[in-house]
Amino acid sequence: MGMRTHYEILEVTCSATQEEIRRAFRKKLLCYHPDKTLSYENNEFCEIQAAWNVLKNVELRRSYDESLHLKEAVIYEEIQVSDMESVLVDEYSTSLTYKCRCSGEFQLENLESELLQSGQVKNIVISCNHCSSCIQVSL
Ligand SMILES: [Zn+2]
Repeated sequence: MGMRTHYEILEVTCSATQEEIRRAFRKKLLCYHPDKTLSYENNEFCEIQAAWNVLKNVELRRSYDESLHLKEAVIYEEIQVSDMESVLVDEYSTSLTYKCRCSGEFQLENLESELLQSGQVKNIVISCNHCSSCIQVSL
């Protein structure tokens, strides 16, 4: 318990539409609402309510999705900015990249790079543009 995601609690997929989530919540409510059944488990009901409160709100859902994504991300390497290769994007700017084990690469956005350089963040997790691998970059 407590390990299930909001999606698992409502039994919807991560890509469910807001309408599908609303319907799933209603269906769950019918099963678990204290007024409707004597055998409800209070915990379960609270979990359903909590899941709904997040997923019904598009903004909250988005940030929840991001936190899920980071939790699931498997960090296969921790590197430093200096390990990255500077690649010319155009005449005026460069981008920092790092080769993935697959044929893809990790790219550090300029903004992310600035956040690291200025010490505002200690590390940044970036994902491969080709597979689901992630690396953690620190200064
Ligand atoms: Zn990759």
